[in-house]
Amino acid sequence: MTIRVTVWGENVHEHENAVVAGVYPDTMHVTIADALNRAGGISAGTVTLQDPDHGLTPERLAETDVLIWWGHTAHGDVRDEIVDRVCDAVWGGMGMIFLHSAHFAKPFKRLMGAPCNLTWREAGERERIWVTSRNHPIAAGLPDFFELEHEEMYGEPFGVPEPLETVFISWFQGGEVFRSGLTYRRGAGNVFYFRPGHETYPTYHNAHVQRVIANAVRWAHNPAARIANPNDAPNVPVDRAPEKIETRGATLHKAGEAGYR
Ligand code: ZN
Repeated sequence: MTIRVTVWGENVHEHENAVVAGVYPDTMHVTIADALNRAGGISAGTVTLQDPDHGLTPERLAETDVLIWWGHTAHGDVRDEIVDRVCDAVWGGMGMIFLHSAHFAKPFKRLMGAPCNLTWREAGERERIWVTSRNHPIAAGLPDFFELEHEEMYGEPFGVPEPLETVFISWFQGGEVFRSGLTYRRGAGNVFYFRPGHETYPTYHNAHVQRVIANAVRWAHNPAARIANPNDAPNVPVDRAPEKIETRGATLHKAGEAGYR
């Protein structure tokens, strides 16, 4: 079975900043998709903020097993209607991976229900990424740690809910540490946050980083059929209760009513 991946790129820095354009002449999202297409068992395509519906039409999401998100400067330009659509897809079972500055992306903040803030510094520091969950499938094939010579620092406290599992922690040359690989389940969807990937550094060309993202795609993929309406909250009338019962006392709602939202 081939896992269908859509890489969503904000696609702004690559066209407005000469350093980023030099590091990623093919754009970040295409670089990430190309690496996934070489990984085996994965078919990755790309969409961007500038596409109609930001590239995330209902049809595209229905054909996406795992969505990868990179955004930074234009989080506010993502339409709320599209955020709703993406979150519904995750709650219905689509896998989702948020990279680096996507900690402030609207769908990540919605799915986390938390500020998602952190400390940061742009000083080209060495980042040492430690595997904290050795047998975790997202860490498969990695050494005990690997290093990125130049990265932006993200430091704790990271304002996210306690994850299901912490797969990586990062140490930075300046002394800070950060939980840099976190798993969540939201509705029926598997969600992974992976920290590295500041746009002025060649992070997505790194073989270990590429391996983590490919491993995360396989981990996040949910082969079960997508839940059509994950927001359904059906009323179960008395006569359809699993055990025979009778209504007791006063009721606010009529049998079979939709209820309040
Ligand atoms: Zn950054």
